[in-house]
Amino acid sequence: MPRNNENLKKWKREHYVSYSELSEEDKEKRRVIVRRYRTNHPERVKQSSQKSETKRVRNKELTNKTAAALRLKKKLMVLDRYGGKCKCCGEKDFHFLSIDHIDGGGNQHRKAIHGGGVVLYAWLIRNKFPGGYQVLCFNCNLAKGIYGVCPHGR
Ligand SMILES: [Zn+2]
Ligand SMILES: [Zn+2]
Repeated sequence: MPRNNENLKKWKREHYVSYSELSEEDKEKRRVIVRRYRTNHPERVKQSSQKSETKRVRNKELTNKTAAALRLKKKLMVLDRYGGKCKCCGEKDFHFLSIDHIDGGGNQHRKAIHGGGVVLYAWLIRNKFPGGYQVLCFNCNLAKGIYGVCPHGR
């Protein structure tokens, strides 16, 4: 084996073959080397797998955060386009607001597009904010669902 770095690089360039190109015998040799390395340096192997685990978790948190931010962005965009407040009582806090199908049929539509909430928001954006929808707060929306008309309107 070459001693210094430059030679090592050269040696690798000339001798390194990818695993799939190796003969069965050489594959076995390489497996032995890897196994020996793992047995001799368990702490390093552990470290590197821990590192990738932390990375994975961090990435996942990041993805969840980005996804949540994106969902909120879509919701706000849609609410804004449809007036930004409850059509019935004027509630403005987006936490309470949702999109209502003016003529009902919400359930069928949710079924047709395979989801409510963010799926509906995405659908409305894709379809350039079609008519027939309005912003209602959960209270008014629910009341409308149960009584047919919100008690506010009486
Ligand atoms: Zn309301
Ligand atoms: Zn109401």
